[in-house]
Amino acid sequence: MADRMLIVDDQPEIASLVSSVARDCGYNVDQLHDNKQFAALVSDWQPTHLVIDLQMPDVDGIELLRLLAEQGSRARIIIMSGTDNKVIESARYFGRARGLDIVGMLRKPFRTAELRDIISRVRSTPTREDVPISARHLNTALDNDELWMAFQPKFRLGTERAGDCVSGAEALMRWTREDGTTISPAEFIPLAESAGIMDLLTARAIDKVLRQMAAWLQDGVELQVAINISAQNLHSATFTEDFASKCREYNISPSSVICELTETTTMQDPTQAMEALTRLRLKGFSLAIDDFGTGYSSLVILQKLPFSELKIDRAFVGDCLDSPQSGVIVRAMIDLAHNLGLSVVAEGAETGDVVEFLRNNGCDLVQGYFYSRPLKAEELISWISSARQC
Ligand code: C2E
Ligand code: MG
Ligand code: MG
Repeated sequence: MADRMLIVDDQPEIASLVSSVARDCGYNVDQLHDNKQFAALVSDWQPTHLVIDLQMPDVDGIELLRLLAEQGSRARIIIMSGTDNKVIESARYFGRARGLDIVGMLRKPFRTAELRDIISRVRSTPTREDVPISARHLNTALDNDELWMAFQPKFRLGTERAGDCVSGAEALMRWTREDGTTISPAEFIPLAESAGIMDLLTARAIDKVLRQMAAWLQDGVELQVAINISAQNLHSATFTEDFASKCREYNISPSSVICELTETTTMQDPTQAMEALTRLRLKGFSLAIDDFGTGYSSLVILQKLPFSELKIDRAFVGDCLDSPQSGVIVRAMIDLAHNLGLSVVAEGAETGDVVEFLRNNGCDLVQGYFYSRPLKAEELISWISSARQC
């Protein structure tokens, strides 16, 4: 079924311009010039995309975003406004914090080419039928071994002359079902957490990653690999010892493993996090704070917990050239991390220009589609043989 785009703008000429570009790009389109029919249209027509003007006479766009969040909307949303960038950024931040999929921002006045570019870029890619997955499916996936680990290489930025080199990889879990459809970790990790089976999933991830690292070592490839750890894992009293004993079983030094924890994870119970993280460090593991900048207590966390690496969230990295604010934040995060003795990884670098920005601002490591998407273990090795290892 075609993508359905709803455009909400009090200026009919702008709504018509957006409509005609969207139609050219293959969308079914509807438009509103006020908020009266908004809630009804959204629930009846179920738009897959929305373009929302932030400033309208009777209603502001934030009110509409709040309504969409209440309805649990999964539409892709473009925010449009003639106000300054800071207001648009705050609106975007608000939308994302409410779980909305804000995929773009358009500052008025915009050029038609800019509009066309964003509207064609945010089209849906065909995905699996929207069948809800449940904890039962996930348990079956564990039983049938449908979960596997992909690896995304991480690059150490060198000088232009010395060139960049592969320093390691992040292990990312993938779920391919029997019928070949794949389910994103953004969907099944929260499900595993709410179903209380995150310990099983992490144990499976650890086993698969360490086994793979041992196989690589046999082939002479030594890589430092990062594994994502969930808040629930830290609740288990035996987690750190189990992890260390798995390393002994596969003959992998914990110093070759980085545990990645998100900022929000560490905030849920800072004392418990402190205990578990300190124990992991004592056993020789490295620790990274993931998605840095998305939580609320960044500085306290950084000061108190024994991290060795900071990963800048891709929302800032992806925007660092388009949004002056994001650029300033990325620079400040790099300085902050260095001043605290941490190395910095930027995630989500998609273009060479972003990588150059990071290089010029002293970022240590970069991960992103510009270099490579997450790969199967065997693809990673053939890929690395064509790149330089640090
Ligand atoms: P994360 O740990 O922050 O991982 C980085 C995510 O960014 C990955 O998404 C990766 O594919 C994506 N990414 C990397 N480079 C780019 C880029 O240039 N552009 C864009 N748009 N995206 C990029 P993925 O694999 O979908 O994983 C999403 C999240 O799910 C992860 O975020 C992590 O929080 C969680 N996750 C994945 N695997 C595991 C796991 O084994 N255990 C746990 N606890 N969480 C996991
Ligand atoms: Mg991560
Ligand atoms: Mg991350």
